[in-house]
Amino acid sequence: HSGADILMDPHRNHGVAFSQKERAELGLRGLLPPVPASSEQQVARMHEMLSRIELPIDKAMFLDSLHAHDESLFFRLLIERTEEYMPIVYTPTVGEVCQRFSHIFRYPRGLYISINDAGQVRELVENVPNEEVDVIVVTDGQRILGLGDQGLNGMGIPVGKLSLYTACAGIDPAKTLPVVIDVGTNNQEYLNDPLYLGLRHERITGERYAALIEEFVQEVRRRWPNVLIQFEDFGNHNAFELLHRYQEKILCFNDDIQGTAAVTLSGVYSALRIKKETLAEQRFLFLGAGEAATGIATLIVDALVDEGMDRAEAYKHCCLFDSKGLVTASRTGLAANKLPFAHDLDSADKFIDAVRLVRPTCIVGVAAQPGAFNSEVLREMAAINEHPMVFALSNPTSRAECDAETAYRETDGRALFASGSPFPPVDVCGKHFVPRQGNNCYVFPGLGLGAVFAKATWMPDGMFLTAARELAKLVSEEDLAQGSLYPSLGEVRAASVKIGAAVADYAYRHGLATADRPDDLEAAVAAFMYKPE
Ligand code: NAP
Ligand code: MN
Repeated sequence: HSGADILMDPHRNHGVAFSQKERAELGLRGLLPPVPASSEQQVARMHEMLSRIELPIDKAMFLDSLHAHDESLFFRLLIERTEEYMPIVYTPTVGEVCQRFSHIFRYPRGLYISINDAGQVRELVENVPNEEVDVIVVTDGQRILGLGDQGLNGMGIPVGKLSLYTACAGIDPAKTLPVVIDVGTNNQEYLNDPLYLGLRHERITGERYAALIEEFVQEVRRRWPNVLIQFEDFGNHNAFELLHRYQEKILCFNDDIQGTAAVTLSGVYSALRIKKETLAEQRFLFLGAGEAATGIATLIVDALVDEGMDRAEAYKHCCLFDSKGLVTASRTGLAANKLPFAHDLDSADKFIDAVRLVRPTCIVGVAAQPGAFNSEVLREMAAINEHPMVFALSNPTSRAECDAETAYRETDGRALFASGSPFPPVDVCGKHFVPRQGNNCYVFPGLGLGAVFAKATWMPDGMFLTAARELAKLVSEEDLAQGSLYPSLGEVRAASVKIGAAVADYAYRHGLATADRPDDLEAAVAAFMYKPE
């Protein structure tokens, strides 16, 4: 390879950071400004340029091109300035990246499988240049964040999530693979958009859909037998169906159901330290009864059972409110995942009525209904509770149930609050609050790291409970004093080491690991992580 080839290869290019010795060895002399720059200078240069760009979507495009020509610099920037650039690479800006995906597309990244490739997926998988793949994030684009069907444009999500896998948990970027499965879209706007890059017909469903997913799973596992497959932002029905079909058979998980559950439970544990109460004393009311809601509720039930409660009793601590109102025993035709939470209760059509009926200690917003936690709801929560727990988890920011300021203001500064997308600190009632993100980004990278490290065969629900408790341990008294239910994003890499080690330990203890167990697991997990240098 010539020096010029190296400068064109994002995995190997280090730009002006190449030392004189490297320049001589690699044939780079004369191809770069003569004085090697330090890594700090490079990061400072990128940061200065980014600071001059106003719109988040334009920052995202700048970062995308950096990613495409100097991968290690992209990751250094993301690691050193996580709080600033994670919202660009991930929620909320990734939502806009998806919506405009076909209009800003420049660098193909990952694997595109369409329904027209059925029967030939092996050839596509063989074309992938990565020799090894540790983690795949795959979507079919049907339920991207709270933005609905984005079709092929949903590819922005696997790309963003895998950037976080590297930045937050040190998964080698050369061993990550974003995948989009394009079976069409029911998004009329995209079907009419002349620049839309996906198939221009309605979604193919049923057997043809299932067969394509199965072929994808078979072929990627044929080439990379230990690969972890993360299912992401699938529509409600398929998400549960695929998890049910694959969870115990292959190394996989659904982040919207299971990762969200772990991060939310972790935030609840933090809130309980402030409340000085136990989980068994809480009542949860969910706005939404889908992947996130029933995933979280089920993990709460698992935690209660683990703490000694009878399972039937534990279910009663969680109530759901869906698009048809409060989920009660008298409702007919309920989806299987809602059934255990359908209790003998009066009906309620409005969420505020459900709050008055259930008298929850915690409300969890996962229905993508912006403004649903209005002042009436928040005031009622503040009347019922000394410290109401308010989790406004819908993404992106435009879909949040309430913003941080409203949550604190309408509860006289007594709310214990977290949100799916970031909100800046708030001063209310003479107090300074630093709300943090109840976002699965705190756990999925570490979960994947642990599973990949141990070469786990599959991921039981117990791993997610383990991850939730591990993350909760990292929240300090100083965090709690300012209302933070999570550590800062700057600590997410350290959190991933702990979560990764705990998840790997779970795999070893339960006979699910196929890699050898090192003496010092945490040190070995930390050493396993990719560091962009
Ligand atoms: P989903 O499976 O499609 O579920 C959406 C739920 O919202 C459904 O149960 C639906 O009711 C309900 N709903 C819709 N309109 C409603 C209304 N007007 N009133 C009450 N409920 C209503 O989606 P999901 O995967 O759970 O995701 C939902 C939201 O959570 C998204 O915005 C997503 O971004 C967010 N989320 C956040 C995180 C995080 O880490 N913070 C993780 C995952 C998801 P029916 O069942 O009656 O249709
Ligand atoms: Mn998701």
